[in-house]
Amino acid sequence: MGRSDRILSTLNTEADPEIRLHEQLQTAGSQPRAIVLFGPPGSGKGTQAKMLRDLLGIPHISTGDMLRERIASNDALGAELRGLMKSGNLVPDETVNRLVEERLLRPDCKNGVILDGYPRTLAQASILESMLDRFGLTQLVIYLKLDYTKVIRRIAGRRQCPRCGALYNLAVTPPKTSGICDRDGETLVIREDDREDVVRERLDTYERQTRPVLDYFAASGRRFCEVDSAEASAEQVLAKIRGCMVTE
Ligand code: ADP
Repeated sequence: MGRSDRILSTLNTEADPEIRLHEQLQTAGSQPRAIVLFGPPGSGKGTQAKMLRDLLGIPHISTGDMLRERIASNDALGAELRGLMKSGNLVPDETVNRLVEERLLRPDCKNGVILDGYPRTLAQASILESMLDRFGLTQLVIYLKLDYTKVIRRIAGRRQCPRCGALYNLAVTPPKTSGICDRDGETLVIREDDREDVVRERLDTYERQTRPVLDYFAASGRRFCEVDSAEASAEQVLAKIRGCMVTE
């Protein structure tokens, strides 16, 4: 049993009164945190990031969302980014690093952030460390583990609201009205890179370029916590993440 498993098995976060837990989450650790959600595509990083944002009141920084916003501006850079993402490849490190740095400089990040989809390469992981040191944020890495057969099944059922970004899964968290966003009534879409052939390419990219970052985190001696994202519900996964946070 690994260290994080031991921590998780001794915790019963469900039994804590909500208010006490909220205080613990806010005060655990001496410095504001960057919670890094790491894992393969479809492991639930976006879903967990949004729930953590609502729980902790700190910003959710998703490089995938930032890049999709950039694409929407329809200029030459946008077209280049779209081509890379559509084929399941990564965007160059310099582009993503610059976007993240600009975002971290905004004042709402001073009490902590949730990073979703970043870092995804060793070069990004090393730049992130220096940025976090500079901005006075400590790093807590949550690895959302999920095997590839489940990844493919999950992504096949994924739908997103193009207006507010809300995510649905037809099998687990369907919208109340089929094909329509519960929040704003927008018609839900399948992301261009969620087609099965592209998902396989994304998993291949993950294996080659992103998985090595795990060893880097593990060797760095910083806080690292593994959570099985195959749990039955998003709330159960969240409870485990909260467990990692209060034991800091
Ligand atoms: P998922 O985690 O489900 O793959 P994301 O929305 O995080 O989805 O990312 C979608 C795509 O955006 C990636 O396949 C990649 O092309 C690009 N991207 C997102 N984050 C990064 C990053 N940190 N570095 C390089 N490319 C990125």
